[in-house]
Amino acid sequence: MKLEGKVALLFGGTSGIGEATAKAFAQEGAKVMISGRDDQDGKRIVNEIKQKKGTAMFVQADVTKSEEIDKAVEKTLSEYGTVDVLYNGAGIHDSYANALETTETEYEKLMAVNVKGPFLATKAVLDHFLKKGKGTIINVGSQATFVAGPGGSAYVTSKHALDGFTKQLAYDFGQKGIKANLIAPGFVETPMTEGINEERLDDIPAKRAGKPEEVAALAVFLASDESDYIQGTSVKIDGGWTVGR
Ligand code: NAD
Repeated sequence: MKLEGKVALLFGGTSGIGEATAKAFAQEGAKVMISGRDDQDGKRIVNEIKQKKGTAMFVQADVTKSEEIDKAVEKTLSEYGTVDVLYNGAGIHDSYANALETTETEYEKLMAVNVKGPFLATKAVLDHFLKKGKGTIINVGSQATFVAGPGGSAYVTSKHALDGFTKQLAYDFGQKGIKANLIAPGFVETPMTEGINEERLDDIPAKRAGKPEEVAALAVFLASDESDYIQGTSVKIDGGWTVGR
C-alpha cells in the first residue's frame, strides 16, 4: 500500500492512462477524486474501484475552465479533507498537423487543455500544498516532450512547454515541500492512439506499444514518498523509442 493515507486528485482520469492511474492509486490505498468531462465513464470507474474495496469519487470538470477546476479541488477538500497528489493527465492530440496546417483556433484549444489546464489545476492546489508543507504534482508529457514527430506543431510545443512548467515548479517550490515531475509516455494503447500503425511500433526497441497500467505504475512511484528525492525531472516510459531518434 504505497499510497495509504494519501488523497489524489486526477484530471483526465476518465479514460486511457488517467483511468489506469486512478485505479492504481486506489489499489495502493489512496482516496481518489477522479475528474473528467464524461459523467458516465467517471461513475463507471468509481464503481469499479469501489467493487475492489477502494475509495473513489467523481467530479466533472473541463480543464480549460478555472471555475470547474476550483470546484473539483473544493470537492476534494470537502469530501476527503485534504489533497496530497495532483495528477495532470488531460490532453488532446493534433493529428500531426504542421504549423501551416494548424489554425489559430486549434492551437489555442490544444494549448488550453495541454498547458493551461495543468497550470490552472496547479494554482488551485498550491496554497493547500504550501500550508501542509508537502504536495506532489505529476504532469503527463510525452515522447513529444523530447523530440519532434510524435505529434504535430501544437502537440509537440505543448508537451515541451509542460516540461518547462514542471521544472519551474520544482525550482520555485521544491524547497517548500512540493515535488513536481513529468511522466513521458511513448506509444501507449489508449483511445488517443487508436489506429496506431505498425510502422511506428517498428521504431520502438521494445517492439510493442505500452500499456496504460505500466504508465500507472510509474505514477504510483512518483506519487509515493519513495520518490521524494526525484524532483523536477521527466521520466521516459517509451520502450526505448526516443533513444533511436
Ligand atoms: P485519452 O484520450 O484516453 O485521455 C485523454 C483524457 O483527457 C481523456 O479522458 C479526455 O476526456 C481528457 N480531456 C481532453 N480534453 C479535456 C478537457 N478540456 N477537460 C478535461 N479533460 C479533458 O488518451 P491517453 O493516451 O490516456 O492520454 C492521456 C495523457 O497521456 C495525455 O496528456 C496524452 O497527451 C498523454 N500521452 C499519451 C500517449 C499515448 O500513446 N497514449 C503518449 C504520450 C503522451
